[in-house]
Amino acid sequence: MRDDQAVDVAIIGAGPAGLTAAYQLTKAGYSVTVIEKDPVYVGGISRTVEHEGFRFDIGGHRFFSKSKEVVDLWNEILPDDFIERPRMSRIYYEGKFYSYPLRGFEALMNLGLWRSAMCMLSYAKAKAFPNRNPRSFEDWVVNQFGHKLYSIFFKTYTEKVWGMPCDEMSADWAAQRIKGLSLGGAVIDGLKRSLGLNKAKNDGMAVKTLLETFRYPRQGPGMMWDAARDKVVAGGNRVLMGTALHQISQDQSSGRWRVSAKCGDETLVINAGHVISSAPMRELAGRIHPLPATLPNALDLSYRDFLTVALMIRSDDLFPDNWIYIHDPRVQVGRVQNFRSWSPEMVPDEKLACVGLEYFCFEGDGLWAASDDDLIALATKELATLGLADPATVVGGKVVRQEKAYPVYDDAYKANVEEMRAELEAKYPSLHMVGRNGMHRYNNQDHAMMTAMLTVRNIEAGTRVYDIWAVNEDAEYHEAGTEGEQAALASVRAVPERLKAAA
Ligand SMILES: Cc1cc2nc3c(=O)[nH]c(=O)nc-3n(C[C@H](O)[C@H](O)[C@H](O)COP(=O)(O)OP(=O)(O)OC[C@H]3O[C@@H](n4cnc5c(N)ncnc54)[C@H](O)[C@@H]3O)c2cc1C
Repeated sequence: MRDDQAVDVAIIGAGPAGLTAAYQLTKAGYSVTVIEKDPVYVGGISRTVEHEGFRFDIGGHRFFSKSKEVVDLWNEILPDDFIERPRMSRIYYEGKFYSYPLRGFEALMNLGLWRSAMCMLSYAKAKAFPNRNPRSFEDWVVNQFGHKLYSIFFKTYTEKVWGMPCDEMSADWAAQRIKGLSLGGAVIDGLKRSLGLNKAKNDGMAVKTLLETFRYPRQGPGMMWDAARDKVVAGGNRVLMGTALHQISQDQSSGRWRVSAKCGDETLVINAGHVISSAPMRELAGRIHPLPATLPNALDLSYRDFLTVALMIRSDDLFPDNWIYIHDPRVQVGRVQNFRSWSPEMVPDEKLACVGLEYFCFEGDGLWAASDDDLIALATKELATLGLADPATVVGGKVVRQEKAYPVYDDAYKANVEEMRAELEAKYPSLHMVGRNGMHRYNNQDHAMMTAMLTVRNIEAGTRVYDIWAVNEDAEYHEAGTEGEQAALASVRAVPERLKAAA
């Protein structure tokens, strides 16, 4: 056991939230120690993994925020390394590419005469006999598009991502996610596009349209967080890698925290005035001493996990998109990233293509537990099944696992989070939960950062002047609107909730 130097603030996790707090506190003159359990990478889910000169993202990270403060901070940390990238992503189904969002005409042309006729018939049936009380995602989408289109374009991918059947997901999620998209609207939009009547970007469909370009650090998102770490260290503070939280407890008389952390066999103890935690709420609860009364609530929180199998292929790029959605039920892969489309610097060899096959899974299930060799073989086989690459051209592979990629929003999560938050905030004003899993919220980087920025202001003010739980997650801000246009966000993030069992 080694007593480390006392600091103003101990930060758990060197992801976007932890490093944003560390950077801002460093600038403001506070002493800070960050502990990060990963031995190599900072950036958390926004890290960039390197393998033999190739670089991979966990899922592909676009840098877009409506918050001016966040955009300014990105520019301040990484002033010279952003590139502007064209955005392209389509759906791949039975050997054909479909625009995303769907364009009615193109979809019907690609599907062919017979299947299109079936789609139109099932659409007509859904319109003539709608489900008057749509409870599930499936009910809602079938009402909107008919069963045939639902089964081709919605069911398979949605179930792959969330690991639950569409007839058990709530209809609210579909209503939020697919808001405004109807077959009629899509057909009219297709017509307008064919006639050149659509104006430039972001006005296309009645639905929220997708940004046509986005910013990206030239060597991936990890570049941002490496730069943030370097600035924290240059400012005299520390980021301790391979160091995982073991236990935290507060001294009742001084109010200071004793944060013990494990680095290999060594245990080190940091004495800190405040603790900022971006570790998953479920983990934090189990490491507070004495254990909180709401530990059972925290243990009830769950997560969806994720892995990428990167394959290096002797070939031209397989497709021009940044990524494609795989709606084919014959394969388990959900999405394929094309890393060169994100940035040419992600792929060091012009003669090779590098793609990332993304599998959504649960920690400990068959996919997660499979060996790297088996996963590389599976990904190679699935690329061939899809007709995207010949296995003989695959010359290398690398598996990257990401535990707790998605906080799961089930029936109980809201109450569980509320109760744990209420207990910890009342007992410990100097313990701050931030970020994505740190608040069990489906935050993107910008919102994870914003919760950290407001926490820093609270620490500076000596009291909770900002309610960080009011920073809202919003799926769609990524897809529409103007970068840096507002200071805070106020809409609700679309994530599926499992239906309560029918009474
Ligand atoms: C597939 C996918 C695609 C995404 N795409 C985008 C996108 O395009 N744009 C975007 O802005 N966002 C995107 N995101 C979201 C983004 O990754 C997160 O919002 C962001 O990384 C959250 O930052 P964070 O610091 O809160 O958490 P994390 O990134 O999870 O970082 C937490 C850090 O804490 C460390 N840690 C955890 N427990 C401990 C412990 N006990 N002791 C020490 N350290 C610990 C972890 O190792 C990690 O480094 C995507 C996410 C996923 C899963």
